[in-house]
Amino acid sequence: MDLKVLGSSSKGNCYILENDTEALIIECGVNIKDIKKALDFSFNKVSGCILTHEHKDHSFSLIDLLKAGVDVYASKGTFKALGYKQHHRIKHIAANTLFQVGSFKVLPFAIQHDCVEPLGFIINHPETGNILFITDSYYVSNKFRNINNIIIEANFSEGIIQKRVEDGKLPEFLQDRIFTSHMSIETTLKTLEANDLSQVNNIVLIHLSDGNSNADQFKSAVESQTGKRVHVADAGLVIENFNKKPF
Ligand SMILES: [Zn+2]
Ligand SMILES: [Zn+2]
Repeated sequence: MDLKVLGSSSKGNCYILENDTEALIIECGVNIKDIKKALDFSFNKVSGCILTHEHKDHSFSLIDLLKAGVDVYASKGTFKALGYKQHHRIKHIAANTLFQVGSFKVLPFAIQHDCVEPLGFIINHPETGNILFITDSYYVSNKFRNINNIIIEANFSEGIIQKRVEDGKLPEFLQDRIFTSHMSIETTLKTLEANDLSQVNNIVLIHLSDGNSNADQFKSAVESQTGKRVHVADAGLVIENFNKKPF
């Protein structure tokens, strides 16, 4: 399985898990043209799209995906916030209730963000094993077992933010908003530390903030703590062999 990153920031988030026969879209916060292009202009092998929450940088192309005949899975709260009640392509999902999209089994769990009913996912596929997917959450209390690959937010550094507030470059209310909606690299490291990583092959850091993060520092901090293969997501990144076994 390959993991393609189409966007990973407050400008737009979209990831595609893809092999020769099927594809799962995670988030649709980029232009539909980019999604089509990444799929070689065919939705034939798309099993569905799973969506964490309603913010535009995650949901921008929802209507276009529905029009293209793609089933989209999200919480009732997310669809309500987006103004959708019913559509035959809309599939309601809920925390702690397993569902299946093609060959992908997905277990959603509740996360902490400034929106209605956000979810994180454990995505299981025979090739990839269990993938932990967490974005837009300032904190995650769950413990996860038997994880093979991790895609996790590292939005900002607490130190960088505090310095920018002190220097008058960032208003304090924005600092407070960021601290209670997005995951700091410090929290990412604690979250990784709290879980058994013995079976993990890849850690992908996502949704880095433009002004409040440092990609090189984040990558090396996670590498030195975990000893794992660490990637920083950016539009255009493709990770091949995003699998249970490294090769
Ligand atoms: Zn976001
Ligand atoms: Zn958000």
